[in-house]
Amino acid sequence: MPGKQPYIGRFAPSPTGPLHLGSLYTALASFLQARSHQGKWLLRVDDLDTLRNIKGSADSILKTLDVFNLYWDDSVVYQSRHLDVYEEILDKLAKNGLIYPCTCSRKTLAGIYSGLCRNKQHLHNSQHSLRIKTDERIISFQDELQGLISHNLARQHGDFILKRKDRVFAYQFAVAVDDSLQQINHVVRGFDLLDSTPRQIYLQQMLGFATPGYMHVPVIINEQGYKLSKQTCATAVDIKTPQFVIFGLLELLQQNPPCELQNAPSTELLNWAIDHWNPSLLKDFRAVSQQFH
Ligand code: GLU
Ligand code: ZN
Repeated sequence: MPGKQPYIGRFAPSPTGPLHLGSLYTALASFLQARSHQGKWLLRVDDLDTLRNIKGSADSILKTLDVFNLYWDDSVVYQSRHLDVYEEILDKLAKNGLIYPCTCSRKTLAGIYSGLCRNKQHLHNSQHSLRIKTDERIISFQDELQGLISHNLARQHGDFILKRKDRVFAYQFAVAVDDSLQQINHVVRGFDLLDSTPRQIYLQQMLGFATPGYMHVPVIINEQGYKLSKQTCATAVDIKTPQFVIFGLLELLQQNPPCELQNAPSTELLNWAIDHWNPSLLKDFRAVSQQFH
């Protein structure tokens, strides 16, 4: 490893609603990690899932980041503009005999996919998803907070979907492609995605892409113990008082911001946080509770 590569990180929200506290928390962690490494922080909108996208929410997310002074580098990338590239790369995998159509319905599928359709002949034009063949290899990586993660690919994930029946490219595939296209070398994201990482590393291996470093930060949970998300009715962050929100988030990031900064403008808070950023205080945390103290 040359070790002198400039740091390139990213935040990759899905435009499924306004930015809530849980996503802002991840955004802030990845921003601080990038800025404290004098790195780039890129913004990518993961807008492939047309059924879940909500009109206007990409713009609203960008605006919220702006209000919080979380400025990104370069221009925003939209996954929906990369459909040709995904198709091309899928073709490469197909040429290597790694892809096969699957006509199983969701109902018949429970748990890890058994590879039922691997050797089936399908009617042309029949509705199908596309899966990648997996084997029993062990995929391991050292997460910067969660330690060594090792998965048996076939046993823990099975042949997974790269393109859905509704022709939407799957998250695992699109992220592996875009992280490589954008030359991302550090991924900071929520603990809820830890389980996805081995699949993405497998795709990187199959495609000859470099594997970035990974840091999975805790997710924020509400009083009921559920992750803040659209499903748990997390509301949009309050953009009227960014300084209080940032202060609270820094506490949840275990950074112990000094009380004197409680009313400081958010740029000042952010500068303090970049200078003092110590992610190791989050080691082994999988979740933090929302209640600010
Ligand atoms: N777009 C994904 C999400 O909002 C995150 C992608 C990633 O960080 O890999 O959950
Ligand atoms: Zn099948």
